[in-house]
Amino acid sequence: MQRSIWKRFVCAVIGSGLGLSVTTGSALAIESCVASLKKQAIAKGVRPEVAERMLAGATFDEKVIRFSTSQPEYKTEIWDYMAFLVDAERIKDGEKNLKKHKRTLSAIEKRYGVNRHVVLAVWGIESDYGQFRGDFYTPHALANLACAGKRRSKYFRGELIKTLQIASRGDVPEGDFKGSWAGAFGQTQFMPSTYNSLAVDFDGDGRKDLVNSVPDALASTANFLKNAGWRDSRPWGFEVKVPKGYKGPSGRKKNSSLSTWGKRGLTKIDGTRLTGKLEAALIRPAGAKGPAFLVTRNFRALRSYNASTSYGLAIALLSELVSGGDPFKTPWPTDNPGLSRAQRLELQKLLNKNGFNVGAPDGKVGPATRAGIRKAEAKYGMPVTGRPSWNVYYSLGGR
Ligand code: CA
Repeated sequence: MQRSIWKRFVCAVIGSGLGLSVTTGSALAIESCVASLKKQAIAKGVRPEVAERMLAGATFDEKVIRFSTSQPEYKTEIWDYMAFLVDAERIKDGEKNLKKHKRTLSAIEKRYGVNRHVVLAVWGIESDYGQFRGDFYTPHALANLACAGKRRSKYFRGELIKTLQIASRGDVPEGDFKGSWAGAFGQTQFMPSTYNSLAVDFDGDGRKDLVNSVPDALASTANFLKNAGWRDSRPWGFEVKVPKGYKGPSGRKKNSSLSTWGKRGLTKIDGTRLTGKLEAALIRPAGAKGPAFLVTRNFRALRSYNASTSYGLAIALLSELVSGGDPFKTPWPTDNPGLSRAQRLELQKLLNKNGFNVGAPDGKVGPATRAGIRKAEAKYGMPVTGRPSWNVYYSLGGR
């Protein structure tokens, strides 16, 4: 959902030593606020013992508040996102899961009209096919956002009460609400209100369990996409060739028919002529020198899962690759590409080996890893960026 793995990545790169000051006052205030939320939840039908257990131990969590108020320290280039979100491991795992859940995915395709590859790709990006669900206990994260957060406390109060209601109804076991700091949980990373409007029970056990049931999670994703306008009758889009010096319309809101785009001189990337009435918009996420795409209403549906063009393209590309399609033909405009997850982990090991101590390697590029990269870059006479790039990886002996 809105707080996907993509957002979590952004969070992971937020500096931990920003010295954000938090008053003891807000730390204390959460207790009485949580007690009053408990009362409200019970008044709204949550079983008292469920509210009691799920809010027990909900204390001030500096990390949740820091994440919710910080801006990412680094702008992540699209080729870095694509390199780690659509890496060889995620493609391979996708192919494996495609076979493993063939029957479920077929049934979902039929019921919702959303093809298996795109459903699988969302699952792969959101939670690494259910393997990663986040580090925060959802009710406690939401209690912090509702009681000590700086913004939208009313919204988070509502999300918290919905979480307790979901558990109270018995849909998701109360201990299983692991997710992002922002309250999204389960294999699809739905916010509780999205859960309420779009989650479905697909395995027929009477519970909508987006944490423990793969059929429920995948069908809910398909339901979300269908609701957001996805139709299998059209593609998400495709890569195109734009004539040199093109000055015509571009941007994701400027839609024209494919035949109009054809008249403007665009072709498919293999040179095929563009014809037909399908509406699409031209996007060039890395500028005129990078790859260009015509994207349809289906791409908007992907973006409604997470309002980011990089995110939408990662889903689109992964869905192409797990279905045996081609990678994008035009390279990203950089001579220093990004690293896969395996390479990020290897980079940390290499930094440690070379005396740039970055702590226990976990593949997550946080402040300590960035500091190590900066030191390595300085030593090798490279521009000091802190970015996990191919050049620094190669200089340290990575291949
Ligand atoms: Ca179920």
